[in-house]
Amino acid sequence: MRKLIVAGNWKMNTTVPEGVALAKAVAEKAAEVPANVQLIVAPPHTHLVSVAEALKGSKVALSAQNCADHDKGAYTGEISVGMLVSAACEYTILGHSERRQYYGETDAKLVDKVRLALDAGLKVILCVGENLDEREAGKHFEVVTAQTVNVLSHFSAGDMAKIVIAYEPVWAIGTGKTATAEQAEEIHACIRKVLADQFGAKVADDTTILYGGSCKPSNAKELFAQPDIDGGLIGGAALKAEDFIEIAKSF
Ligand code: PEP
Repeated sequence: MRKLIVAGNWKMNTTVPEGVALAKAVAEKAAEVPANVQLIVAPPHTHLVSVAEALKGSKVALSAQNCADHDKGAYTGEISVGMLVSAACEYTILGHSERRQYYGETDAKLVDKVRLALDAGLKVILCVGENLDEREAGKHFEVVTAQTVNVLSHFSAGDMAKIVIAYEPVWAIGTGKTATAEQAEEIHACIRKVLADQFGAKVADDTTILYGGSCKPSNAKELFAQPDIDGGLIGGAALKAEDFIEIAKSF
């Protein structure tokens, strides 16, 4: 049985005290969520140590939103995987469309980052997803397949036990436009087929694939009911503990 996950990507929101309060509220409500659902929060880097403290003893895991593509040295402003591990991170998000779009994150760079993260003992939430032009040109399957293969062809079946995939259509992120359950499911099924072709049916079946893009309490149930959707990567709705928990109760 693959893991069900609801992960909150806080992006560049909240101050440290606000983030700690949000983490505490999520941790307090986590008992309402079915035991087989893994909750994850991904605050900004400045919050990690304090949020880790706030989450202690809860079932909520800690994630970073990004990591450097080098392990240490003269890379001003960057945060290494070793630093993330030392701040009690269990996961890091990688390849978020905002990183790809605004910071030139390429698939080649992602291969380095995923390798560093796995070697450091972190689990990875690898984001893929097409933009609006690609969707309108009917290229969504092609784009998502290429993004998945370009990175994962460098990894083994064993590595996949530590990799979660998040399908996030860029046109649905922060726009209020959610992919329909049908649109999301067909891409998730496509990703699972790509995994089956590369790693075999067992790995494909065991890999958690999350949906992200304006997921909220009102649409989570329908999305999570799809056979290939194993949870969500949540942006805006993760900034309210009640909404985040409500989403996690939607399986
Ligand atoms: C995201 O950026 O990962 C995301 C899914 O954002 P939102 O839920 O706000 O669309």
